[in-house]
Amino acid sequence: MPIAQTDTALLQAARRRSEILRQLGLMEEVDEREFDELVELAAALCGKALSAMTLLDEETQLIKARMGFQGARTMPVRESICQYTIQSKQLLVVEDTVEDARFGGPVGGGIRFYAGTPLTTIDGTAVGALCVMDTAPSALTPQQLRALEVLGRQLSNRIQLRERARSMADLLEERERAREMFVTILNNVPAEIYLKDEDGRLRFYNRKLADRFAINETAWLGKTSRDLWDEETAERVFQEDRAALQSGKPQETFLDLKEADGRQSYWRTTKAPCRDSNGDPVLACCSVDLTEQREREQHLRDVQEELEEANRKLSSLALTDALTGLWNRRAFDSRLETAVIAAQRSKEPLALMLLDVDHFKRVNDRFGHPYGDEVLRNVATILNRTNRADEAACRFGGEEFAVLMPRTDAQGAVALAGRIREAMHAFHWEKEPVTISMGIAVWTDNWSSDDLVDNADAALYRSKKGGRDQFTCYNCEEQTV
Ligand code: GH3
Ligand code: MG
Ligand code: MG
Repeated sequence: MPIAQTDTALLQAARRRSEILRQLGLMEEVDEREFDELVELAAALCGKALSAMTLLDEETQLIKARMGFQGARTMPVRESICQYTIQSKQLLVVEDTVEDARFGGPVGGGIRFYAGTPLTTIDGTAVGALCVMDTAPSALTPQQLRALEVLGRQLSNRIQLRERARSMADLLEERERAREMFVTILNNVPAEIYLKDEDGRLRFYNRKLADRFAINETAWLGKTSRDLWDEETAERVFQEDRAALQSGKPQETFLDLKEADGRQSYWRTTKAPCRDSNGDPVLACCSVDLTEQREREQHLRDVQEELEEANRKLSSLALTDALTGLWNRRAFDSRLETAVIAAQRSKEPLALMLLDVDHFKRVNDRFGHPYGDEVLRNVATILNRTNRADEAACRFGGEEFAVLMPRTDAQGAVALAGRIREAMHAFHWEKEPVTISMGIAVWTDNWSSDDLVDNADAALYRSKKGGRDQFTCYNCEEQTV
């Protein structure tokens, strides 16, 4: 229904003007000179003894400024004539309230004549009226009506000025809050953040930077790298800053710094060119301390190297004999397999010698086990000295040794056996001479690796049988023929 709609619209308008008046703090019963003067002028120009500036919230009409009457400054909106001016949003003239059906008699203690113009805010909301009144029926000339409207607009302008001042204050407050929030964030990020102008002068730095150098938040403002760092560092920073400003794009730089306490620190800095509020170029910098990270990485690398070294040791331990340092049986087995395969493919000769210390049990028995160990180590030394680099000497087990001789024929193997025998004789044994018996086998095409070992062992057995301290070859004659 139209009436209901109108009621709703009126209600909404009343709420809106209440809100604006409250925000501007205008509903207070205090005289304000800038309003009083215009109200006085309205009375004078319209030739009326009574004039007023009214402001209406949802319930109450406040006489903000008045001329010619005293008494209460507020009355309920429903009793006010100005409510009609506000509703019509234009100049309202009631020449005689007695003749007007809306009032049907004098209003507000004797008013018969009323002429009012609405006062509006920036968004066009009517919040009150400037009016002139008389206790007798009356009229205004067109010039007077025009003057009333012009003065009403002047009053509206003053209200709107307050609105603008208010929104400016709001904006400034908002800006200050945003700035505070921004600085709080900058002060609490785990990085040093600072701003430099085109000449490298510090314009801002956050708390993290201030804390590191134990300075307050203004001590370094205006300073440049040259004031703060050694000449070489300052020059480098200066060049990097210039490069970033010229490129117009964020640049990442890394810097080693010697701290005041002598500690070396390492920094990653992002330098982003931008403009300040005046449009002048500035460099927004963010430095992150990578010292700990680098130390951690270095530590990790050290640990990894140690681990690798330990692994290398472990794997060599797995293949070497702890007592003599020679290849152990496991290494011998795998080398033997490889050597046999290589010999099969290349048709190059391959010889194997097994060696067994003579009467070693007796050595142990007479001079003790530790001395026996010493003898085994000396035999290992002799084997290492007499054979070639590619001939692998192994501890075959107990007091038995093996020398695997790739690319060695019967003649070469026998020559080596001779050299070993001589070296055993020439060695200065601490207690009594030690001899060794040897058995040689030269690999033949259809032999497996087991055949080679078995046949060398058979030859060794013959050397033992033959009186020890000698070498026998299982198949040298056939090989040399
Ligand atoms: P043959 O001339 O017939 O070879 O006599 P042998 O006494 O050397 O032979 P036998 O096999 O009877 O004795 C080998 C001894 O070697 C027995 C064992 O105690 C000793 N032996 C084995 N391994 C080690 C070792 O690592 N250290 C010491 N000290 N003795 C060892
Ligand atoms: Mg033995
Ligand atoms: Mg022996």
